[in-house]
Amino acid sequence: AKSRFLAKMSHELRTPLNAILGFSQLMERSRDLPEEHQQNIAIINRSGEHLLDLINDVLDVTQIEMREGQLNVAGFDLHRTLDDLEQMMYLRAEKKGLSLAFEAAEDIPRFIKTDQRKLRQVLINLIGNAIKFTEEGGVVLRIRLGAVLESSECTRKLVFEVEDTGPGISEEDEKTIFEAFGQTQIGQQTQEGTGLGLSISRQFVKLMGGDIIMTSRVNKGTVFRFEIQVDLIGESDFEERPESRQVLALEKGQRASDERPYHLLIVDDNWENRGFLSKFLAQVGFVIIEAVDGEEAIAKSESWRPHLIFMDIQLPGLDGYEATRRIRALQPTDDEAEPPVIIALTAGAFEEHRKVALEAGCDDFMRKPFRESE
Ligand code: ADP
Repeated sequence: AKSRFLAKMSHELRTPLNAILGFSQLMERSRDLPEEHQQNIAIINRSGEHLLDLINDVLDVTQIEMREGQLNVAGFDLHRTLDDLEQMMYLRAEKKGLSLAFEAAEDIPRFIKTDQRKLRQVLINLIGNAIKFTEEGGVVLRIRLGAVLESSECTRKLVFEVEDTGPGISEEDEKTIFEAFGQTQIGQQTQEGTGLGLSISRQFVKLMGGDIIMTSRVNKGTVFRFEIQVDLIGESDFEERPESRQVLALEKGQRASDERPYHLLIVDDNWENRGFLSKFLAQVGFVIIEAVDGEEAIAKSESWRPHLIFMDIQLPGLDGYEATRRIRALQPTDDEAEPPVIIALTAGAFEEHRKVALEAGCDDFMRKPFRESE
Protein backbone atom coordinates (compact mmCIF):
# COMPACT_ATOMS: atom_id res chain seq x y z
CA ALA A 1 0.00 0.00 0.00
CA LYS A 2 2.84 2.34 0.84
CA SER A 3 4.52 1.73 -2.49
CA ARG A 4 1.33 2.30 -4.38
CA PHE A 5 0.68 5.47 -2.44
CA LEU A 6 4.16 6.75 -3.26
CA ALA A 7 3.80 5.88 -6.92
CA LYS A 8 0.50 7.72 -7.05
CA MET A 9 1.87 10.74 -5.20
CA SER A 10 4.87 11.00 -7.47
CA HIS A 11 2.54 10.96 -10.41
CA GLU A 12 0.53 13.79 -8.94
CA LEU A 13 3.71 15.76 -8.28
CA ARG A 14 5.13 15.27 -11.74
CA THR A 15 2.15 16.82 -13.47
CA PRO A 16 2.48 20.36 -12.08
CA LEU A 17 6.24 20.04 -12.32
CA ASN A 18 5.82 19.50 -16.01
CA ALA A 19 4.28 22.94 -16.31
CA ILE A 20 6.97 24.55 -14.12
CA LEU A 21 9.85 23.06 -16.06
CA GLY A 22 8.09 23.54 -19.36
CA PHE A 23 7.33 27.20 -19.00
CA SER A 24 10.65 28.07 -17.44
CA GLN A 25 12.41 26.42 -20.37
CA LEU A 26 10.19 28.35 -22.71
CA MET A 27 11.13 31.60 -20.98
CA GLU A 28 14.82 30.73 -21.07
CA ARG A 29 14.56 30.73 -24.84
CA SER A 30 13.39 34.28 -24.91
CA ARG A 31 16.18 36.60 -25.91
CA ASP A 32 14.74 39.86 -24.68
CA LEU A 33 14.49 38.91 -21.02
CA PRO A 34 16.45 41.28 -18.72
CA GLU A 35 19.50 39.62 -17.26
CA GLU A 36 18.18 39.60 -13.73
CA HIS A 37 15.14 37.64 -14.83
CA GLN A 38 17.25 35.28 -16.85
CA GLN A 39 19.04 34.40 -13.65
CA ASN A 40 15.76 33.98 -11.81
CA ILE A 41 14.46 31.68 -14.48
CA ALA A 42 17.64 29.67 -14.37
CA ILE A 43 17.12 29.21 -10.62
CA ILE A 44 13.52 28.08 -11.11
CA ASN A 45 14.72 25.65 -13.72
CA ARG A 46 17.53 24.22 -11.63
CA SER A 47 15.31 23.86 -8.59
CA GLY A 48 12.69 22.17 -10.73
CA GLU A 49 15.29 19.74 -12.01
CA HIS A 50 16.36 19.06 -8.47
CA LEU A 51 12.79 18.42 -7.37
CA LEU A 52 12.36 16.06 -10.29
CA ASP A 53 15.49 14.16 -9.24
CA LEU A 54 14.10 13.77 -5.74
CA ILE A 55 10.74 12.55 -7.00
CA ASN A 56 12.50 10.11 -9.28
CA ASP A 57 14.55 8.82 -6.35
CA VAL A 58 11.43 8.15 -4.35
CA LEU A 59 9.96 6.38 -7.34
CA ASP A 60 13.06 4.28 -7.83
CA VAL A 61 12.81 3.14 -4.24
CA THR A 62 9.16 2.19 -4.60
CA GLN A 63 9.87 0.35 -7.79
CA ILE A 64 12.64 -1.57 -6.10
CA GLU A 65 10.38 -2.36 -3.16
CA MET A 66 7.66 -3.56 -5.48
CA ARG A 67 10.36 -5.60 -7.27
CA GLU A 68 9.45 -3.89 -10.48
CA GLY A 69 12.85 -2.46 -11.20
CA GLN A 70 13.92 -3.57 -14.62
CA LEU A 71 16.81 -2.92 -16.92
CA ASN A 72 16.50 -0.94 -20.10
CA VAL A 73 19.48 -2.21 -21.97
CA ALA A 74 20.71 -0.37 -25.05
CA GLY A 75 23.96 0.45 -26.79
CA PHE A 76 25.62 3.78 -26.04
CA ASP A 77 28.90 5.63 -26.22
CA LEU A 78 30.63 5.10 -22.88
CA HIS A 79 33.42 7.58 -23.60
CA ARG A 80 30.95 10.33 -24.27
CA THR A 81 28.90 9.47 -21.20
CA LEU A 82 32.04 9.68 -19.06
CA ASP A 83 33.10 12.97 -20.66
CA ASP A 84 29.70 14.52 -19.97
CA LEU A 85 29.81 13.27 -16.42
CA GLU A 86 33.29 14.62 -15.86
CA GLN A 87 32.26 18.05 -17.09
CA MET A 88 29.24 18.11 -14.83
CA MET A 89 31.12 16.89 -11.76
CA TYR A 90 34.15 19.05 -12.42
CA LEU A 91 32.11 22.16 -11.70
CA ARG A 92 30.98 20.81 -8.35
CA ALA A 93 34.51 19.79 -7.36
CA GLU A 94 36.00 23.09 -8.48
CA LYS A 95 33.55 25.05 -6.34
CA LYS A 96 34.87 23.24 -3.27
CA GLY A 97 38.48 23.52 -4.32
CA LEU A 98 38.83 19.74 -4.79
CA SER A 99 40.67 17.94 -7.53
CA LEU A 100 38.75 15.52 -9.71
CA ALA A 101 40.30 12.95 -12.01
CA PHE A 102 38.79 10.32 -14.27
CA GLU A 103 41.31 7.56 -14.91
CA ALA A 104 40.08 5.16 -17.53
CA ALA A 105 42.26 2.22 -18.55
CA GLU A 106 43.25 2.38 -22.20
CA ASP A 107 41.28 -0.66 -23.23
CA ILE A 108 37.97 0.75 -22.01
CA PRO A 109 35.54 0.00 -24.82
CA ARG A 110 33.82 2.90 -26.45
CA PHE A 111 30.50 1.26 -27.23
CA ILE A 112 28.79 -0.90 -24.67
CA LYS A 113 25.37 -2.22 -23.93
CA THR A 114 23.78 -1.86 -20.54
CA ASP A 115 21.27 0.41 -18.80
CA GLN A 116 22.84 3.80 -19.39
CA ARG A 117 20.49 5.79 -17.17
CA LYS A 118 21.07 3.52 -14.20
CA LEU A 119 24.84 3.45 -14.66
CA ARG A 120 24.91 7.23 -14.91
CA GLN A 121 22.78 7.57 -11.83
CA VAL A 122 25.04 5.30 -9.79
CA LEU A 123 28.13 7.23 -10.87
CA ILE A 124 26.53 10.60 -10.21
CA ASN A 125 25.54 9.40 -6.79
CA LEU A 126 28.94 7.99 -5.79
CA ILE A 127 30.99 10.85 -7.22
CA GLY A 128 28.46 13.37 -5.93
CA ASN A 129 28.74 11.92 -2.40
CA ALA A 130 32.52 11.87 -2.58
CA ILE A 131 32.57 15.55 -3.49
CA LYS A 132 29.88 16.43 -1.01
CA PHE A 133 31.59 14.88 1.99
CA THR A 134 35.21 15.73 1.17
CA GLU A 135 36.59 19.05 2.31
CA GLU A 136 40.21 18.71 1.27
CA GLY A 137 42.07 16.76 -1.36
CA GLY A 138 40.10 15.25 -4.14
CA VAL A 139 38.17 12.50 -5.85
CA VAL A 140 39.26 9.93 -8.41
CA LEU A 141 37.14 7.71 -10.61
CA ARG A 142 38.96 4.66 -12.02
CA ILE A 143 37.53 2.39 -14.66
CA ARG A 144 38.93 -0.84 -15.99
CA LEU A 145 37.80 -3.84 -17.91
CA GLY A 146 37.38 -7.01 -15.88
CA ALA A 147 37.23 -10.67 -16.72
CA VAL A 148 35.67 -12.19 -19.81
CA LEU A 149 32.56 -13.95 -18.65
CA GLU A 150 32.09 -17.52 -19.68
CA SER A 151 28.74 -16.98 -21.31
CA SER A 152 30.14 -15.04 -24.25
CA GLU A 153 33.30 -13.33 -25.32
CA CYS A 154 31.51 -10.06 -25.76
CA THR A 155 30.24 -10.02 -22.20
CA ARG A 156 32.74 -8.49 -19.84
CA LYS A 157 32.88 -7.06 -16.37
CA LEU A 158 33.46 -3.36 -16.09
CA VAL A 159 34.95 -2.22 -12.78
CA PHE A 160 34.44 1.26 -11.37
CA GLU A 161 36.12 2.73 -8.33
CA VAL A 162 35.38 6.08 -6.69
CA GLU A 163 37.96 7.14 -4.15
CA ASP A 164 37.94 10.25 -2.00
CA THR A 165 40.05 11.85 0.72
CA GLY A 166 37.04 12.64 2.90
CA PRO A 167 35.98 11.82 6.46
CA GLY A 168 35.61 8.09 5.89
CA ILE A 169 32.89 5.80 7.16
CA SER A 170 33.23 3.71 10.31
CA GLU A 171 32.59 -0.03 10.28
CA GLU A 172 29.42 0.33 12.35
CA ASP A 173 27.99 2.74 9.83
CA GLU A 174 28.70 0.54 6.84
CA LYS A 175 25.43 -1.36 7.07
CA THR A 176 23.27 1.70 7.70
CA ILE A 177 24.41 3.71 4.72
CA PHE A 178 23.17 1.15 2.22
CA GLU A 179 19.71 1.17 3.79
CA ALA A 180 17.01 3.48 2.49
CA PHE A 181 17.18 6.76 4.45
CA GLY A 182 20.37 5.61 6.21
CA GLN A 183 22.85 8.39 6.91
CA THR A 184 25.85 8.82 9.20
CA GLN A 185 26.09 11.78 11.51
CA ILE A 186 28.09 13.66 8.90
CA GLY A 187 25.42 12.84 6.34
CA GLN A 188 22.67 14.22 8.55
CA GLN A 189 24.64 17.37 9.23
CA THR A 190 25.05 18.24 5.57
CA GLN A 191 21.28 18.64 5.25
CA GLU A 192 21.66 17.91 1.61
CA GLY A 193 20.37 14.55 0.58
CA THR A 194 17.92 12.01 1.82
CA GLY A 195 19.93 8.86 2.41
CA LEU A 196 18.33 7.18 -0.59
CA GLY A 197 21.23 7.39 -3.01
CA LEU A 198 23.34 4.44 -1.90
CA SER A 199 20.41 2.12 -1.40
CA ILE A 200 19.20 2.86 -4.92
CA SER A 201 22.71 2.60 -6.33
CA ARG A 202 23.27 -0.82 -4.79
CA GLN A 203 19.97 -2.14 -6.17
CA PHE A 204 20.77 -0.75 -9.61
CA VAL A 205 24.22 -2.30 -9.62
CA LYS A 206 22.69 -5.63 -8.58
CA LEU A 207 20.25 -5.39 -11.47
CA MET A 208 23.23 -4.78 -13.75
CA GLY A 209 24.87 -7.95 -12.54
CA GLY A 210 27.25 -6.87 -9.79
CA ASP A 211 27.51 -5.33 -6.34
CA ILE A 212 28.98 -2.32 -4.54
CA ILE A 213 31.70 -2.79 -1.95
CA MET A 214 32.94 -0.08 0.37
CA THR A 215 36.32 0.16 2.04
CA SER A 216 37.14 3.11 4.23
CA ARG A 217 39.48 4.49 6.85
CA VAL A 218 38.07 7.11 9.18
CA ASN A 219 39.60 10.54 8.55
CA LYS A 220 41.51 9.20 5.55
CA GLY A 221 38.95 8.53 2.90
CA THR A 222 36.59 6.08 1.29
CA VAL A 223 36.54 3.85 -1.76
CA PHE A 224 33.34 2.62 -3.33
CA ARG A 225 33.99 -0.13 -5.88
CA PHE A 226 31.39 -1.73 -8.08
CA GLU A 227 31.31 -3.93 -11.12
CA ILE A 228 28.66 -4.53 -13.70
CA GLN A 229 28.26 -6.85 -16.66
CA VAL A 230 28.26 -5.20 -20.05
CA ASP A 231 28.15 -6.36 -23.64
CA LEU A 232 30.77 -4.94 -25.93
CA ILE A 233 29.37 -3.83 -29.26
CA GLY A 234 30.76 -2.41 -32.46
CA GLU A 235 30.11 1.07 -33.69
CA SER A 236 27.70 -0.27 -36.29
CA ASP A 237 25.41 -1.71 -33.61
CA PHE A 238 25.11 1.65 -32.06
CA GLU A 239 22.31 4.05 -32.78
CA GLU A 240 23.48 7.59 -32.38
CA ARG A 241 21.17 9.66 -30.25
CA PRO A 242 20.67 13.22 -31.36
CA GLU A 243 22.74 15.75 -29.49
CA SER A 244 20.79 17.94 -27.18
CA ARG A 245 21.16 21.20 -29.04
CA GLN A 246 18.47 23.81 -29.03
CA VAL A 247 16.03 23.70 -31.89
CA LEU A 248 15.43 27.21 -33.20
CA ALA A 249 13.07 26.69 -36.09
CA LEU A 250 12.00 24.38 -38.85
CA GLU A 251 13.97 24.81 -42.02
CA LYS A 252 12.07 27.11 -44.40
CA GLY A 253 9.57 25.50 -46.70
CA GLN A 254 9.58 22.11 -44.99
CA ARG A 255 6.45 20.20 -45.83
CA ALA A 256 5.01 16.81 -45.18
CA SER A 257 4.62 14.25 -47.95
CA ASP A 258 1.06 15.50 -48.60
CA GLU A 259 2.53 18.96 -49.34
CA ARG A 260 0.90 20.61 -46.35
CA PRO A 261 2.95 22.24 -43.59
CA TYR A 262 3.33 19.91 -40.62
CA HIS A 263 0.20 19.85 -38.47
CA LEU A 264 0.53 18.71 -34.87
CA LEU A 265 -2.41 17.84 -32.65
CA ILE A 266 -1.84 18.24 -28.91
CA VAL A 267 -4.28 16.39 -26.69
CA ASP A 268 -4.23 17.18 -22.99
CA ASP A 269 -7.02 18.13 -20.60
CA ASN A 270 -4.64 20.23 -18.56
CA TRP A 271 -4.25 23.58 -20.25
CA GLU A 272 -0.90 24.38 -18.67
CA ASN A 273 0.62 21.26 -20.14
CA ARG A 274 -1.03 21.83 -23.48
CA GLY A 275 0.02 25.45 -23.40
CA PHE A 276 3.70 24.72 -22.99
CA LEU A 277 3.86 22.19 -25.81
CA SER A 278 1.83 24.24 -28.22
CA LYS A 279 3.68 27.48 -27.54
CA PHE A 280 7.01 25.81 -27.85
CA LEU A 281 6.17 23.92 -31.04
CA ALA A 282 4.39 26.89 -32.61
CA GLN A 283 7.54 28.96 -32.04
CA VAL A 284 9.50 26.37 -33.95
CA GLY A 285 7.06 26.71 -36.82
CA PHE A 286 4.53 23.88 -36.67
CA VAL A 287 0.80 24.35 -37.20
CA ILE A 288 -0.77 23.48 -33.86
CA ILE A 289 -4.24 22.14 -33.12
CA GLU A 290 -5.39 21.38 -29.60
CA ALA A 291 -7.92 19.00 -28.09
CA VAL A 292 -8.99 18.67 -24.48
CA ASP A 293 -10.29 15.11 -24.41
CA GLY A 294 -10.43 11.84 -26.32
CA GLU A 295 -13.63 12.59 -28.22
CA GLU A 296 -12.34 15.91 -29.47
CA ALA A 297 -9.03 14.29 -30.36
CA ILE A 298 -10.77 11.77 -32.60
CA ALA A 299 -12.91 14.45 -34.28
CA LYS A 300 -9.97 16.79 -34.87
CA SER A 301 -7.78 13.99 -36.06
CA GLU A 302 -10.37 13.24 -38.75
CA SER A 303 -10.99 16.80 -39.83
CA TRP A 304 -7.42 18.12 -39.60
CA ARG A 305 -5.42 15.04 -40.49
CA PRO A 306 -2.48 15.96 -38.28
CA HIS A 307 0.91 14.46 -39.10
CA LEU A 308 1.69 13.87 -35.48
CA ILE A 309 -0.38 13.63 -32.33
CA PHE A 310 0.84 14.16 -28.77
CA MET A 311 -1.64 12.11 -26.81
CA ASP A 312 -1.96 12.55 -23.07
CA ILE A 313 -3.01 9.26 -21.53
CA GLN A 314 -5.04 10.35 -18.52
CA LEU A 315 -8.04 12.10 -20.02
CA PRO A 316 -11.58 12.50 -18.76
CA GLY A 317 -13.95 10.08 -20.52
CA LEU A 318 -12.09 8.17 -23.21
CA ASP A 319 -8.48 7.81 -22.15
CA GLY A 320 -5.55 8.32 -24.47
CA TYR A 321 -5.13 4.62 -25.18
CA GLU A 322 -8.73 4.23 -26.28
CA ALA A 323 -8.62 7.44 -28.34
CA THR A 324 -5.48 6.14 -30.05
CA ARG A 325 -7.10 2.80 -30.82
CA ARG A 326 -10.10 4.55 -32.37
CA ILE A 327 -7.98 6.94 -34.40
CA ARG A 328 -6.03 3.99 -35.74
CA ALA A 329 -9.25 2.08 -36.53
CA LEU A 330 -10.73 5.06 -38.38
CA GLN A 331 -7.72 5.42 -40.64
CA PRO A 332 -8.92 4.44 -44.13
CA THR A 333 -6.82 1.58 -45.46
CA ASP A 334 -6.90 2.77 -49.06
CA ASP A 335 -5.74 6.22 -48.02
CA GLU A 336 -2.64 7.59 -49.69
CA ALA A 337 -1.81 9.87 -46.80
CA GLU A 338 0.45 8.42 -44.16
CA PRO A 339 -1.15 7.63 -40.80
CA PRO A 340 -0.25 10.10 -38.05
CA VAL A 341 2.63 9.42 -35.72
CA ILE A 342 1.16 9.18 -32.23
CA ILE A 343 3.28 9.86 -29.15
CA ALA A 344 1.81 9.02 -25.77
CA LEU A 345 2.46 11.47 -22.94
CA THR A 346 2.17 10.34 -19.39
CA ALA A 347 3.18 11.43 -15.96
CA GLY A 348 3.02 7.76 -15.01
CA ALA A 349 6.52 6.92 -14.14
CA PHE A 350 6.81 3.22 -14.77
CA GLU A 351 8.27 1.75 -17.89
CA GLU A 352 5.32 -0.62 -18.31
CA HIS A 353 3.32 2.34 -19.57
CA ARG A 354 5.47 2.23 -22.65
CA LYS A 355 4.38 -1.29 -23.48
CA VAL A 356 0.69 -0.54 -23.06
CA ALA A 357 1.05 2.61 -25.16
CA LEU A 358 2.74 0.75 -28.00
CA GLU A 359 0.10 -1.98 -27.88
CA ALA A 360 -2.63 0.63 -28.17
CA GLY A 361 -1.08 1.86 -31.41
CA CYS A 362 1.21 4.64 -30.28
CA ASP A 363 4.58 4.94 -31.98
CA ASP A 364 6.44 6.19 -28.98
CA PHE A 365 6.11 7.32 -25.45
CA MET A 366 7.30 10.34 -23.51
CA ARG A 367 7.33 10.77 -19.77
CA LYS A 368 6.21 14.05 -18.28
CA PRO A 369 7.95 16.25 -17.34
CA PHE A 370 10.00 16.21 -20.50
CA ARG A 371 12.94 18.38 -21.42
CA GLU A 372 12.96 20.62 -24.42
CA SER A 373 15.79 18.56 -25.91
CA GLU A 374 13.68 15.40 -25.78
P1 ADP B 1 22.69 11.04 0.95
O1 ADP B 1 23.99 11.36 0.27
O2 ADP B 1 21.50 11.57 0.26
O3 ADP B 1 22.71 11.34 2.42
P2 ADP B 1 23.36 8.27 0.34
O4 ADP B 1 22.53 7.04 0.45
O5 ADP B 1 23.96 8.56 -0.96
O6 ADP B 1 22.47 9.45 0.85
O7 ADP B 1 24.50 8.17 1.41
C1 ADP B 1 24.15 7.73 2.73
C2 ADP B 1 25.15 8.23 3.75
O8 ADP B 1 26.41 7.59 3.58
C3 ADP B 1 25.47 9.69 3.66
O9 ADP B 1 24.49 10.47 4.30
C4 ADP B 1 26.80 9.76 4.38
O10 ADP B 1 26.58 9.75 5.76
C5 ADP B 1 27.46 8.44 3.98
N1 ADP B 1 28.38 8.59 2.84
C6 ADP B 1 28.13 8.30 1.54
N2 ADP B 1 29.19 8.51 0.76
C7 ADP B 1 30.17 8.96 1.57
C8 ADP B 1 31.53 9.36 1.35
N3 ADP B 1 32.08 9.33 0.14
N4 ADP B 1 32.25 9.75 2.45
C9 ADP B 1 31.68 9.77 3.67
N5 ADP B 1 30.41 9.42 3.93
C10 ADP B 1 29.65 9.01 2.91
